[in-house]
Amino acid sequence: MEPKVNFMIERTLVILKPDCMQKNLAGTVMERFAKAGLSLIACKMMHLQESLLREHYDFLIDKPFFSNIVSYMMEYPVLILVLCGENAIAVARGLLGPTDSSTAPKGTIRGDFGQDKSRNVAHASDSQEAAAKEIARFFTTDEIFA
Ligand code: ADP
Repeated sequence: MEPKVNFMIERTLVILKPDCMQKNLAGTVMERFAKAGLSLIACKMMHLQESLLREHYDFLIDKPFFSNIVSYMMEYPVLILVLCGENAIAVARGLLGPTDSSTAPKGTIRGDFGQDKSRNVAHASDSQEAAAKEIARFFTTDEIFA
């Protein structure tokens, strides 16, 4: 019998963070996603405000570094993307690599371009539930082209 290949067409939310934008790496990082077969279906540049960041990172609210994340994410405008493709959530997370850029393997986006646990180039949704919530947080349905 043929082995079953499990794949799903998914959407995921990616944020190119202030360090990525300040280093002018948006194109380089987006090319990695494109080469992995993920299509861009929505995109906007925003200077994020504290209230939206508190909502986006509410699961980290009790962490000692929470206020640092919020201030870092407000440092510079970010680029927010919705990507679509086969297993987009896992594919995007795999391309990013682990949270801590200083130990992320070379060849991953964070390993190649990030600095540390905080300045780590990009965010990508970690589950289907998070992706749906995060996409709705930043985009209306008529801003998504799919
Ligand atoms: P990921 O972005 O890999 O999914 P988390 O969801 O755990 O990681 O954390 C969200 C973001 O919070 C990270 O991308 C990073 O910017 C910041 N962060 C996480 N852990 C730390 C830490 N120990 N020190 C500073 N910032 C952190």
